[in-house]
Amino acid sequence: MKCQFCHQDVENPCHNAQEIERRATSSIERCEKALKSLQAPESGGRH
Ligand SMILES: [Zn+2]
Repeated sequence: MKCQFCHQDVENPCHNAQEIERRATSSIERCEKALKSLQAPESGGRH
């Protein structure tokens, strides 16, 4: 399944912001990155 936050094909995608936070805390790199872009949507992530 594709994670709506990480945009990666994973077995157990994150279902909400809480879950992605927990995974980021567990040093799951893809979720750390996704969480950062969630928290700072204005920081130059646009085209
Ligand atoms: Zn995820």
